[in-house]
Amino acid sequence: MHIRNVPRIDAGYWAAIVAASMCGTNAGDLAAGPLGLGHVRGIIPIAAVFLAIVWAEKVLNWTTVAFYWLAIIVLRTMATNIADFATHAMKVSAEICPQCDGTGWKSVSRDSDRRVTRCDCRLQARGRALLTSARIPKRYEHCELSNFEFDGPHRLLANARMAACRFVEEYPVENTGLLIIGSIGVGKTHLAVGIIKELVLSKGIACLFYDYRELLKQIQNSYNDSVKATELDVLRPVFETEVLVLDELGAVKPTDWVWDTVSHILNTRYNNKRTTIITTNFPDLPAAAVAGPRDLTARAAREETLGDRIGERMRSRLHEMCRVVRMEGEDFRQKFRSASLR
Ligand SMILES: [Zn+2]
Repeated sequence: MHIRNVPRIDAGYWAAIVAASMCGTNAGDLAAGPLGLGHVRGIIPIAAVFLAIVWAEKVLNWTTVAFYWLAIIVLRTMATNIADFATHAMKVSAEICPQCDGTGWKSVSRDSDRRVTRCDCRLQARGRALLTSARIPKRYEHCELSNFEFDGPHRLLANARMAACRFVEEYPVENTGLLIIGSIGVGKTHLAVGIIKELVLSKGIACLFYDYRELLKQIQNSYNDSVKATELDVLRPVFETEVLVLDELGAVKPTDWVWDTVSHILNTRYNNKRTTIITTNFPDLPAAAVAGPRDLTARAAREETLGDRIGERMRSRLHEMCRVVRMEGEDFRQKFRSASLR
């Protein structure tokens, strides 16, 4: 395919080229903008018009340079379209971050020392992705260290919050986990969720939240043939995540299987030097078989301990993995509920 009617190249030719280019540019803007064709779809009709001109010249066998100029205008229209599209695409990527120009790295100078660090924009993007995969339940999504109350009637919790903040600050240099003990409704889960949210957002650390009952249920379900996930599918992230929150440890009635599963999880994380944050409302005391009263009725009346619920071996393992944080205070959920009933 070729244009047969080519004009002579002289001053008039260049003047005509300029005029044709201007026509074409405007036509290109018109096609992409007001005609609403956009930069990509707009190219298709323009290409069709170009082919129609070449075809018409061939078939009509009509000697005129008008075909040539039409072809120039149409090509110019297409070029404007493509150029606008490229500018647009480049502008979008440049808008991502003015600090690092979208590279993800920025240089920081302290005194005479110049270093390159991860740009905040990457930390934020990573933080959002990590937060999604941390599996924080909807009802705890709002929980943060900054909105954990520890003044007035909650002042007994100030120490626990301070321990949580120190943990976030020192991690990962100091990576001993936390065993958060306190009665129901005192705010253990709020504190644990607050810690991992802070680790995710300010340090870009991969964390995972699991309710102990939910985790055991999922493992049990994986034995069911109709369920696609295997036991390892459920456990792999629990083993591998950098910081695991295991909420309500001991809340499942202990059986041999429960004890085996808990020790599998805790021992694996201990051996891999992973950090585990545990909450429980069972007192951190030995199992009845070890320290309880010998009299059976006294034993039955006695409050169950963490040792009873997860086994004495795992309770002492926990003390190797975690620092104990005691949360003392009233059950605020209970108090709030009864206050609102009055
Ligand atoms: Zn950036």
